[in-house]
Amino acid sequence: MRYSLGALIRNAFSGHTRWQPAWRDPEPKPQYDTIIIGGGGHGLATAYYLAKEHGITDVAVLEKSYIGSGNVGRNTTIIRSNYLLPPNTAFYEWSLKLWEGLEQDLNFNAMVSQRGVLNLYHSDAQRDAFARRGNAMRLNGVDAELLDREQVRELVPLLDFDNARFPIKGGLLQRRGGTVRHDAVAWGFARGADQRGVDIIQNCEVTGIRIENGKVVGVETTRGYIRAKRVGIAVAGNSSRVAAMAGLRLPIESHVLQAFVSEGIKPHIDMVVTFGAGHFYISQSDKGGLVFGGDIDGYNSYAQRGNLPIVEDVMSCAVALFPSISRVRYLRQWGGIMDMTMDGSPIIDRTPIEGLFLNAGWCYGGFKATPASGWCFAHTIATGTPHRLNSGFRLDRFATGHVIDEGGKGAVPNLH
Ligand SMILES: Cc1cc2nc3c(=O)[nH]c(=O)nc-3n(C[C@H](O)[C@H](O)[C@H](O)COP(=O)(O)OP(=O)(O)OC[C@H]3O[C@@H](n4cnc5c(N)ncnc54)[C@H](O)[C@@H]3O)c2cc1C
Repeated sequence: MRYSLGALIRNAFSGHTRWQPAWRDPEPKPQYDTIIIGGGGHGLATAYYLAKEHGITDVAVLEKSYIGSGNVGRNTTIIRSNYLLPPNTAFYEWSLKLWEGLEQDLNFNAMVSQRGVLNLYHSDAQRDAFARRGNAMRLNGVDAELLDREQVRELVPLLDFDNARFPIKGGLLQRRGGTVRHDAVAWGFARGADQRGVDIIQNCEVTGIRIENGKVVGVETTRGYIRAKRVGIAVAGNSSRVAAMAGLRLPIESHVLQAFVSEGIKPHIDMVVTFGAGHFYISQSDKGGLVFGGDIDGYNSYAQRGNLPIVEDVMSCAVALFPSISRVRYLRQWGGIMDMTMDGSPIIDRTPIEGLFLNAGWCYGGFKATPASGWCFAHTIATGTPHRLNSGFRLDRFATGHVIDEGGKGAVPNLH
């Protein structure tokens, strides 16, 4: 069923009783060509692009809970491509281009909103670093504008310009950055993959990976053994656990990151704003809630919940930037588990086991990567070799020394 204005009107006349489920709920088959472990954004996008770009439709996505229960439905929805280093700039820019056409491609409203991402700077040295990053972006064909204090004031007048602990001196703006409704991304990719024949199997946890003669042959699950020629791991915060089932030890730590939503208020902040003197980012949802977050909790965990010290830290950053929201009540808060690599850049690669592929290490920035990650991982699985765009995201780079130390604007794990 295609979604359109006509379909909406037709269904309105029939009391909205004829909408079909957006995806099927199939029983797992005994064998698939390709199994993707993890029904988050990256796993679902991989299945979609395997079917769409490579014609591989004998695919199952195995999700231990319900789709969208992981980080894809827990993040603060920010998308951008304002990275410093070439492997990341090219990859994230391709992702942003895919976001720009995604809703038409999927025939699904993901509320892609290119409202702009503004990174504030608070010192001369930080301005120089931001100018360098903006220049690198522009040299790579990515949009970037360096703003002074008055230009920032015009865009976001409610920031504290007069009495701030860390005075605002300007900002680096990427107008094409913005936000996307996060769980719609999971639903849109799931529907698109399902329509092309992919089986999305929820409540099916992978508990083992079977390997014979150095080659993957299938996975053990809570719903029985399933054979497969190729298996892709895309389980974000659980990457180390699932890779360990194949005897792999990953250069990844799992950490908790929290997100917060306030009560709905009138339009207040119409772009994404990030603090340069602390780790804090904020935007306002279409329902009026302020959506914001800050630092990781700072200890290793596999629990999807956080602790109070970070709540206090994030709130103090919020009020330091926008004193006017000090009496707004925050409504909801939750945590997600992130897979942190030690250079802040991801891994999309083969593994030493034939037929086993790995997509991991997204730190706290993998939502914006979802389309490109799925696109590149699908290419890597289908062809057996990485695409040019993910050829730097190698698993062995920590052994060979080819790290991509994205201090520019990635996750910066060495600070934690
Ligand atoms: C609070 C928070 C805020 C964030 N904000 C942003 C942001 O603003 N912008 C941005 O770009 N990124 C952000 N991120 C990071 C981003 O959300 C993640 O990097 C990204 O979503 C990870 O990829 P995913 O969607 O595939 O992960 P997930 O949605 O976590 O998918 C992995 C799936 O694997 C499943 N799984 C795990 N183990 C198994 C198993 N054994 N068998 C079967 N299934 C299994 C899980 O249940 C899960 O559904 C944020 C993350 C958090 C937690």
